[in-house]
Amino acid sequence: MPVTHTLAADAGLLRRQDPELADVLLAEEHRQSTTLQLTAAENFASPAVLAALGSPLANKYAEGYPGARHHGGCEIVDAAERLATDRARELFGAEHVNVQPHSGSSAVLAAYAALLRPGDTVLALSLAHGGHLTHGSPANFSGRWFDFVGYGVDAESGLVDHDQVRALARAHRPKAIVCGSIAYPRHLDHAFFREVADETGAYLIADAAHPIGLVAGGAAPSPVPYADVVCATTHKVLRGPRGGMILCGRELAERVDRAVFPFTQGGAQMHTIAAKAVAFGEARTPAFAVYAHRVVANARVLADHLADEGLIVTTGGTDTHLITADPGPLGVDGRTGRRLLAAAGMVLDCCPLPHGEARGLRLGTAALTTQGMGEQEMRTVGALLAGVLRGTSDAAGAREAVRELAEVHPPYPG
Ligand SMILES: *Cc1c(COP(=O)(O)O)cnc(C)c1O
Repeated sequence: MPVTHTLAADAGLLRRQDPELADVLLAEEHRQSTTLQLTAAENFASPAVLAALGSPLANKYAEGYPGARHHGGCEIVDAAERLATDRARELFGAEHVNVQPHSGSSAVLAAYAALLRPGDTVLALSLAHGGHLTHGSPANFSGRWFDFVGYGVDAESGLVDHDQVRALARAHRPKAIVCGSIAYPRHLDHAFFREVADETGAYLIADAAHPIGLVAGGAAPSPVPYADVVCATTHKVLRGPRGGMILCGRELAERVDRAVFPFTQGGAQMHTIAAKAVAFGEARTPAFAVYAHRVVANARVLADHLADEGLIVTTGGTDTHLITADPGPLGVDGRTGRRLLAAAGMVLDCCPLPHGEARGLRLGTAALTTQGMGEQEMRTVGALLAGVLRGTSDAAGAREAVRELAEVHPPYPG
């Protein structure tokens, strides 16, 4: 059933019982389908994924793992979790998968819990260069409980400074090295990180929250053969439900499982795990491989167009779904740019830039590509973005063009 029908039916039910909340759901559905979701971490999960999320599996308590639960009546939800883990293991070629982490951050927390003790030293991409909160932010458990040392990207090239990674690893002898970012548009050299980890006796944790969907579709290199533990989300390019997962080898399986439950989480969210199984089922199809490659092709076209329009595109382009760019040459900083673009219906984030203090713009093509947009639409979007940033296109006109583009490519046709 097309999701609009499901939403309409649910909205009818909600409208009778809770009109206030029904209005919120419909307003958000309207917002998502009349603006452009350029936030690099977002996507549109399929109607089948949403159906699993809205299923009665949400009612079931299931602490523990399939076949070894702390509650009765888990035989059926066990089958859902086994489907999810079997499919993910096959999809990523991993010996062991834990699909219970409630989010990407929970997955990272559990990975640290499995491998580290409080006070251990961890080497990760610094937050100012695109590290995630869980990579040592003082506002996050990671920065409070571990001693983080940050490596960076080269100010000129925007690429990870391999010499610095090696030097810091030799100097600090970290217990773990984390590779992964919220803003890095290029493939990471996993073999390089493995080599440094081996040389310095560190675990290698790959936080592949962003690219894991591209990995599933064969459009990005996999960290699985290199990292001791791979943390990921299921809701970014992978297009599943909001959630996390951990992939690892057989020898760390038990430590990872115990780090998720009972160490950092309670009952598994079985509706989300069922939705993860659905998403893995989708991700193993040839259609998803086509999608993943289109996401990258679209990002490359959009990055080229933005560079032609005068933005400074970090690293000169992208290998992935993700683009970071400095709009400075167009006369605006990242924060102002984000506000102007939001007013025109183009939703994206700010990010740090390798070459200075000013904020840049971070955007991605996962959601637009799910909507069926291609290279021609990317050129249209690039022109709209640049016109708004430069202040040459009138705001109402840009908003109308965005609305038309979104209407031609509805996230949930039908
Ligand atoms: C998105 C992301 C996370 C966190 O995911 P949440 O589900 O928001 O907790 C962690 N690490 C990286 C690198 C990410 O991009």
